[in-house]
Order: sequence, then C-alpha cells, then structure tokens
Amino acid sequence: MNSPLLTTRGLQAFYGDAQALFGIDFTLAAGELVAIIGANGAGKSTFLKSLAGLVRAPRETIRFKGEPIGGLPPGEIVRRGLAMVPEGRRLFPSLSVEENLLMGATAARKGPWSLPRLYALFPILAEKRHAPGTSLSGGQQQMVALGRALMSNPEVLLCDELSLGLAPIVIREIYAAMPTITGEGMTVVIVEQDVTMARQVSQRIYCFQEGRVSLEGNSGELTREQISQAYFGIEAAHA
Ligand code: ATP
Repeated sequence: MNSPLLTTRGLQAFYGDAQALFGIDFTLAAGELVAIIGANGAGKSTFLKSLAGLVRAPRETIRFKGEPIGGLPPGEIVRRGLAMVPEGRRLFPSLSVEENLLMGATAARKGPWSLPRLYALFPILAEKRHAPGTSLSGGQQQMVALGRALMSNPEVLLCDELSLGLAPIVIREIYAAMPTITGEGMTVVIVEQDVTMARQVSQRIYCFQEGRVSLEGNSGELTREQISQAYFGIEAAHA
C-alpha cells in the first residue's frame, strides 16, 4: 500500500460515560473505496463522525496526510479535505436543491466539482434545481446530500448509509455514480448495511462489531462465512 492518506490508531469514542468505540485501527490509501459494514449499533456512524470532528477524539488518534486531526472542529476538517454525507441526508428544508448544493461550496476548496459537473452526474437535480430539497424523492434527496459534500471538493468522502430507506433500483442508481467520483481521484469511505452492495463497490471491507473491528480484508477475498461470523458474532453464525 502507498503511504496512507488517513489512519486511526486505537480510536475510542464515548457518549457521556458510554463507550461506543474501543480502539479502532483503520488505514485508508489514496484512491481507495473502503466499506464499513456491521450490525446496528456496531459503531459505524460514530466512527465516521469521529473522523468528521462531530464526535470528540484525541488529536493523535486520527491522522490525515501525516497531520493529527482528531478533535479538530468540523469546519476545519472540511477545509482540510474530509467531507461527510450524513445518515438521513439532512437537507436544509427551506432551501432549494441548488441552494442546498451551494451550502457545500462554502469551504471553497479547489477541485473538479461544481454545479455543472454535479448536474451532469445527476441530471434530475438540474431539472429540480429550484424545487425545495425536501420535495424530492428519497433517492433524489440522497443525490443532493452526496452532491453537497462533493461541492466542498474533498479528498476523502465519508458516506453514511447512502442506501438507507431506498429501493434497490434507487440504491443502484446512487452507487452508479461512484466510479465517476473515484475516477476524479476521490478516496471514499462508505458505511453500508447492504453487504452485497458493499462488497460490489469496495476494494476493502472493515466489519465492526460492538465498537471493535471484527474483520478486515480485500472485498473480493473475504468469504460469506467470514463476513457473517464477523457481522453477527460467532454464536449467531453457528446458530
Ligand atoms: P446504525 O446502523 O444503527 O446507525 P452504527 O453501527 O452506526 O449503527 P452507532 O450509531 O455508531 O452505530 O452507535 C454505536 C453505539 O453508540 C450504540 O450503542 C449507540 O446506542 C450509541 N450511540 C450512538 N449515538 C449516540 C448518542 N448520540 N448518544 C448516546 N449513545 C449513542
């Protein structure tokens, strides 16, 4: 692997007294698409939020391009080149599609993504550019949420459950954009409950279980048995 773009070492996370992550070691190389899978409550969202500065982390436990970034304010992390597509899209309800997209451009990094590029990627958003974001279908809202993150021209895109609540055909439509996104040199981390989709689109997979990494490997080499054991735990896999 080339020198890693992003690493975490022994990353822990807490909500008050409750510990959600118990020492995550994670490595991301430039240009990779890595999927994080795992059951509800395994800590996947907490991990992405820690990377994005939304959950506190000790400075040295997260390094991006050689610099410690743990616990920096979220805006500073976006400026450095990490952008998150939050679970549940989180559009601004009073703003139009285009205004929502432009909110992502406030970090003003240089790069390939602009309104015309996004409208070429998702033509339906050009048609609906003046509509309120919340009047769109779930899939279209997800395109806006993805587009808003791309508008900050990140080096690393963090996607939390893009497929949540969407029909399979819509999920495929969203993921069909990934080769274009990675083709622009973007490095991507996806949290994905749909294991089949995660295996199809990623080069490597991390499986989380109860706040720990239970399995890590190349997506094409991990067996179904390995994944289900790491996902559900040994007892469930043998049940
Ligand atoms: P899901 O697929 O359900 O989103 P997940 O793998 O993303 O699951 P997290 O949302 O990261 O899991 O949750 C990890 C643990 O942290 C769980 O035990 C959860 O109950 C707890 N947790 C998550 N968010 C909070 C919060 N805001 N306050 C307190 N506990 C939380």
